[in-house]
Amino acid sequence: MAQNVTSRWDATHAAPWGPVARDTGSVSLSLVVAASHHHGRVPQAAVQALVELVRQRPPLILTGAGISTDSGIPDYRGPDGRRRVTPMQHGEFVGASQARQRYWARSYVGWHRFAAAEPNVGHRVVAGLQAAGAAGPIITQNVDGLHQRAGARSVVELHGTLAEVVCLTCGARLDRDLVQALMADANPGFVDRVTGLAEDGSRVSSQIRPDGDIVLADSAVTEFRAPSCLVCRADTLKPDVVFFGGSVPKDRVERCYDLTDAAAALLVLGSSLAVMSGYRFVRRAAARGIPVVILTHGPTRGDGEATLRVDAPLGPTLAAVADRLGVPA
Ligand SMILES: [Zn+2]
Repeated sequence: MAQNVTSRWDATHAAPWGPVARDTGSVSLSLVVAASHHHGRVPQAAVQALVELVRQRPPLILTGAGISTDSGIPDYRGPDGRRRVTPMQHGEFVGASQARQRYWARSYVGWHRFAAAEPNVGHRVVAGLQAAGAAGPIITQNVDGLHQRAGARSVVELHGTLAEVVCLTCGARLDRDLVQALMADANPGFVDRVTGLAEDGSRVSSQIRPDGDIVLADSAVTEFRAPSCLVCRADTLKPDVVFFGGSVPKDRVERCYDLTDAAAALLVLGSSLAVMSGYRFVRRAAARGIPVVILTHGPTRGDGEATLRVDAPLGPTLAAVADRLGVPA
């Protein structure tokens, strides 16, 4: 059932970034939030509201897995908000060599597909909005680097990046491509042997997870030689990402709070806000009276805080916004 929502972006909270001149005074917008029977279509009223938002209050952008699904990197959760796969847990990873062996075996096989993923229209529109002065910095919960590859700048990777590996014993940092090469040397022929061994009988290449992990049979994992640190030789190498149950470094959280406090508005793209690490910035913005706009397919935890809530397909909606603004997508 559709629901009428009135949104209001006033100019009292001017954006600290961007060269675009903004209207003075305030603009009120009435629009219809897309309801379930609109799924698959782009709601034009919502597009217009998003256009007004980025014109008048270039927002801080907060992105989640939903912006990368069109690049072939699936979400942990479906549109119903339910978890589809069990992600690696931080405690499990740091607590047992076997867990690290399992992670690296799966990640090794999944890396080719993960590394081959290309930015999609959503990433390109966000970068284009930034270039046009219609969007501020980006806080992303994704670890795939696709915003940067689309040309975005000022990207804070809240949950880290898969492109780097850190040693939990000595603190050494290694490039993921180097670790991939070390694993290839230590495990000749591994990918060929495990292809087709996925537990559910599906092809390995279709089972990649948002953190680069894949589904792999236990029998394949036990023969895998996990990488060890080039500096201290410990088998405690970890991708520089925050696993479920782990914490985001404090200075990174503070930086994101600062960005939120300075924002003219907060625009959430493709996140169900299920984890507190991203949701807390929505709460912060709402508490400070900063408009929160959520464009995500399916329900989100932040719906109660949202000034404007758009439940619509992300790529086509952003493409329509870009089209109205003359921003290349
Ligand atoms: Zn080390």
